[in-house]
Amino acid sequence: MKKSILLSLVMIVSVILIFSVIKLNQSPIQKQTRFLMSTYCSIQIPGKKNVLPFIDSGFLKIEEIDKRFNILDSKSPLYTFNRKASPLYDQEIVDLIERALSICKESNGLFDITVMPLVELWGFYTETYTVPQHGDILKTLPSVDYSTLTVQNDSLIKKDSSVTIDLGGIAKGYALEKAANELTQRGVTSALIDAGGDIYALGTYRDRPWQIGIRHPRKEGFLGVLSLSDYAVVTSGDYERYFEKNGTRYHHIINPKTGYPTKEMMSVTVICKDPVAADAWSTALFAMKPEKALHLVENKPELEALLITAAGKVLCSSGMMNSMELNNGDSVDET
Ligand code: ADP
Ligand code: MG
Repeated sequence: MKKSILLSLVMIVSVILIFSVIKLNQSPIQKQTRFLMSTYCSIQIPGKKNVLPFIDSGFLKIEEIDKRFNILDSKSPLYTFNRKASPLYDQEIVDLIERALSICKESNGLFDITVMPLVELWGFYTETYTVPQHGDILKTLPSVDYSTLTVQNDSLIKKDSSVTIDLGGIAKGYALEKAANELTQRGVTSALIDAGGDIYALGTYRDRPWQIGIRHPRKEGFLGVLSLSDYAVVTSGDYERYFEKNGTRYHHIINPKTGYPTKEMMSVTVICKDPVAADAWSTALFAMKPEKALHLVENKPELEALLITAAGKVLCSSGMMNSMELNNGDSVDET
């Protein structure tokens, strides 16, 4: 055989081999995205088209939570509770509220599920944003007090009929929990569920933990990458739901004590096995002074956090560092 023919044959065989190796490495993954909970949610499951019914069943759960917990939907039990003085008997909602109330207490009321009238005053529900009159904020503050809520005999009672509930700071975490449980019950051992940037990483992907990027609150690209398995990653930030007036940024996390958007952080990312706790704590820590927030996290072994303060300083709890690889150029102060 001529030398040139042999060379061509070797090249063809190598190209075929390279493509087979690439193909082997490209184990398929199915991904679908739907608009739910006022945001884009996606579910990814490794496998071929036969995993699509599992993706459907995960979305069904998120859809269910979206409807039942939507305070603006007249069919939601919360809608009625917010307009009447009568107790709330819905067991599932009462159970979740009980979990939320414990974080309201632990955060000294910086996380407060009765913040609804303030969020409304700033126009965040209808997206008709306004900077309220200071007097209107002062008038509203007395109706914001989670301690007026108690759970008695499996039902939720309010001592003050003007108190209303908004589970927006916790609902996505609960949707992640329900969707992940649903997939697990159906035998799915690997999935990535994303509810508007709040993520649950179920199992592993290609025998490695899932890789999840943490977005930079002001720059393009990722601040770092987390490697996680059976963990929730939840971020609260000032860069997604906000408006600007006279050069000031007003975002959707309100300090329940002052009635104004919090001023401490740009973004808070929490990792925790429990997605509900991750969601509630990301909102709660966002409202805290950075040093206090970091101190609290270091005293809670189930919680790790990456905080970006309003001044742009990056603070990281010690355990968070173990799961994260930082992109160059972003310095971090560890505790
Ligand atoms: P997102 O829902 O955008 O991911 P969060 O989880 O931080 O962000 O929740 C913000 C939502 O929580 C707000 O839109 C509002 O409904 C509600 N909320 C605002 N401030 C507070 C607060 N201090 N405590 C509890 N819930 C809050
Ligand atoms: Mg939250």
